Amino acid sequence: MRVHTLIPSVVLLGSLSLTTACSSGPGAASAPDGAPSVAATPPTTVDPTKIKDLTIVNDSSNDRSCPWATSYPAVPGAEATTAAMKKYVDAYLANYLGTGGSGQASNCGGSADASEVPELNISFAFLVASGDVVGVRLLTQDRTGTGDGLTTRTYWYDGAAHASRTAIGLVTDSSRDAFLAAVKKQLKQRQGIDPNLLAELRATDIDDASFTPDGALKLSFDRGTVGVPAGGRYTVTLDRASVTPWLSAFGKRAQRQTTDPSRTLDLGATSTPTAAVPTETASGTDNTDCAQVKCIALTFDDGPAVTYTATLLKYLAQYKARATFFTVGQNVAAHPELVRAEAKAGHEVGNHSWSHPDLTRLTTAQVKQQLERTSAAITAATGTAPTLFRPPYGAVNAQVKAATSMSPVLWTLDTEDWKYRDATKVADTVIAKATRNDVVLMHDIHPTSVAAVPEILRTLSARGYHFVTVSRLRATL
Ligand code: ZN
Repeated sequence: MRVHTLIPSVVLLGSLSLTTACSSGPGAASAPDGAPSVAATPPTTVDPTKIKDLTIVNDSSNDRSCPWATSYPAVPGAEATTAAMKKYVDAYLANYLGTGGSGQASNCGGSADASEVPELNISFAFLVASGDVVGVRLLTQDRTGTGDGLTTRTYWYDGAAHASRTAIGLVTDSSRDAFLAAVKKQLKQRQGIDPNLLAELRATDIDDASFTPDGALKLSFDRGTVGVPAGGRYTVTLDRASVTPWLSAFGKRAQRQTTDPSRTLDLGATSTPTAAVPTETASGTDNTDCAQVKCIALTFDDGPAVTYTATLLKYLAQYKARATFFTVGQNVAAHPELVRAEAKAGHEVGNHSWSHPDLTRLTTAQVKQQLERTSAAITAATGTAPTLFRPPYGAVNAQVKAATSMSPVLWTLDTEDWKYRDATKVADTVIAKATRNDVVLMHDIHPTSVAAVPEILRTLSARGYHFVTVSRLRATL
């Protein structure tokens, strides 16, 4: 059963009445007209490194029977919008896990049939981060039901009013009727539109709106909300001349910051001292011969993450230990300085996809997009292209392998650190189970996992282990 309770009522109606019409193959999430797609949203002109003290809030499970990964940005000064995104993500996840108190049963753990394994992925893309305007799109891919399961929403922050705005907040109250009429007029002519759903569409149901580079307003409708198109999703574009009179004061500023961005984002946030990025430099290449000595490869997935990754780098440097980081592209783009620090310190940087979907559920084109965009971000940060990738959830098949020249890396020792969030338990697990040439799976997005590392390094060093990268381990076995 699809998770419905958090979706606006019109989506609920649409999904229920149109479920049978929503048959979709793996390619159905792709959007031929350039609208959002799970594979990765098209790059925008927003450079996240220009957003001072930006944090990406990540969480994930590595449970193959209940996979999920969520992320959204926390922009200093735009706390109201961060809170709105957090509320949505937390509630959607709780519902997915069956812990939301809505009576919704868990989607997880019930079926042995691989085709019925659910997946929840919430990722983000910046639309605008300029002047006193922030715009973010959240993309929710929910594979618990039929249909394409893709929900998109835009979140806006109005720095002048210190307020979070929804998509319809771009339009002034008195113009909503005229605006809605214009939207319906365009949609009415499309193939697959359900006249009843269209009649029921209210202005407040419009939850994905963003400006194009030439100032038009583009709306995007989840499949099923107003009907089911042959492919992709319905979009409506209202050109600049016709939409501008309907825009709210904030909408006009959001439009201007899209077409003619200021050089900086200024939300009046009090600047916090920037966390120091370690500047450790590796002392030459690693010549450890794992045929001669006891080796172990620690691997850290899902980062880089602000503060945790930097702390981890300090711990590794203290023990002259090398590790491998399987980084997520949207985090690399936000924090290339951390990835650069990883590489400089002699660690290996691998590719863990752009937004952490199960790659085996994507089309080849989508897999390529997920991996290539991430490799480009890593190369931009470090100057070196990754040669290894770790498929999210360890999910890999012949199609995924064929889509890349990188070599897949799984693991031999799973700490399940994402589940326990307990530094002592994580350290004890590694120390109890470690054997020669193990590839150990951990996540540097969890402070508890990072806190476990000094004890792991101390104990295993005393047992004669050498901490090497995955490539070094593979080269000398
Ligand atoms: Zn992961």
